Amino acid sequence: MTNLQLGRRSLFMKTHFTPRSIILFIIATVAWVVLYLIPIQSLRPVPPALVQLIRVFLLFLSLYMAMERLFTIKIYNKIFLGLVFGALAGILFQSSMAEIQPVGTAFIRMIRMVIIPLVFASLLIGTASMDPKKMGRIGLKTLTYYLVYTAFAIFVGLVLANLLQPGSGLPDQVRDQLLQNYSADGAKVSGLAKQANPIETLLNIIPTNLFEGLSSGIILQIIFFAIFSGVALALIPKEKASPVLLFFEGINETMIKIVHIAIKLAPYGVFALIAAVIGSFGTNILVTLLKYTIITISGMIILNFTYPPVVKLFSGMSPITFMKGIRSPQLIAFSTSSSSATLPVTIETCTEKLGVPMDIASFVLPLGATVNMNGTALYHGVSAVFIAQVFGIPLGIGDQLMIVLTATLAAIGCAGAPMAGILMLVIVLEQVGIPTEGIALIFGVERILDMFRTAINITGDASAAVVIAATEGELTPPESPNSVNL
Ligand code: ASP
Repeated sequence: MTNLQLGRRSLFMKTHFTPRSIILFIIATVAWVVLYLIPIQSLRPVPPALVQLIRVFLLFLSLYMAMERLFTIKIYNKIFLGLVFGALAGILFQSSMAEIQPVGTAFIRMIRMVIIPLVFASLLIGTASMDPKKMGRIGLKTLTYYLVYTAFAIFVGLVLANLLQPGSGLPDQVRDQLLQNYSADGAKVSGLAKQANPIETLLNIIPTNLFEGLSSGIILQIIFFAIFSGVALALIPKEKASPVLLFFEGINETMIKIVHIAIKLAPYGVFALIAAVIGSFGTNILVTLLKYTIITISGMIILNFTYPPVVKLFSGMSPITFMKGIRSPQLIAFSTSSSSATLPVTIETCTEKLGVPMDIASFVLPLGATVNMNGTALYHGVSAVFIAQVFGIPLGIGDQLMIVLTATLAAIGCAGAPMAGILMLVIVLEQVGIPTEGIALIFGVERILDMFRTAINITGDASAAVVIAATEGELTPPESPNSVNL
């Protein structure tokens, strides 16, 4: 039996379909429709808030039965279905969908709660994995390459989003309504614009009290402290450093676990967010979303084609050899959406197919999987401008430079795990003062964008390994392009 057949069989066999689940699904759906059709006022003396609560419960019970019990659907498809059904619900039931918004907000809050510990732990582990004494020079080259490429990727994203304006063109009325709803955030932006003292902004990155930074979520301070602690950890004796590292590795894994659990709620969160958004603002948002997705993916494709010339320039390796060589890790990254999960394949490819010596690959690539996220950086650039455009918030040069700075740091602090990029986007938006609720708009296309950006992320890592090995004079290039056999 082929894999495909096995896959198909298990799809139908693993379903939890039982007569009870179908009865519950029908009862919940019918009860919701009935309660939806009866005007709330006529149900007095039952308080309207209670009716709404029961309606929300019934709607999500019906969705849950459909997605978890009646069919066996993979989580990413569920999220996509959440988007489609949410959009349909928004179109059909319009503004009454606003009542399910709290379910979406609860979901966003759940993922936001892990950001600070996750950033701190993952960044600290990433920087501490460098051994400055032994790898000082390579470390400097690697970080420079990563930083320059990350900033370049954000720049490409910003240029595309500014030129093609994916978020503008919404009718004034819709925009006004959005702005009215999020006026508090608008005030924050203008507040930020006023306090534009660049020296103070830079000085503020250095915390005077870490706990103040942690409690008020000043992420740049947290990143600064984590990088410094990581470097210091690499400099102190191993027996003192390893328990600390072990501790933070534990924290890191725990936070990633929480994200995984929260992702299970994503289909419902996405349903609620999209239904509420479309219900309140109409379908114009959907066309806009499609424009945004196409522009982001085009940006990734452009970025993908910038690596071979850079590799050729530094190492003389033919673009075909490089592109053919990294095909396997690219595909794995695309399907797993995780740089870290792809890491073993990236290392194997770079050493076996591209001629990078093991010591360089094992330093540059794990570091890259944690700190170098070019695809994610481009996505941050496009998304920040897109969301600002949707909300009608003008971004000046200063704001865009702030995006480059925060998105570079956010990409560094981003874990090489599925959907880590959208968490970091919240930070970028917060720092620039763009309403973080805007991520609700793009959550539905998160999966597809995550696939593309992870593939680009690992391509960036592999290009760094080749370039750094070449500048060290240690690259053993494969004999000919055809020798790459993947
Ligand atoms: N999934 C990406 C990675 O592992 C990170 C992201 O979400 O952008 O590289």
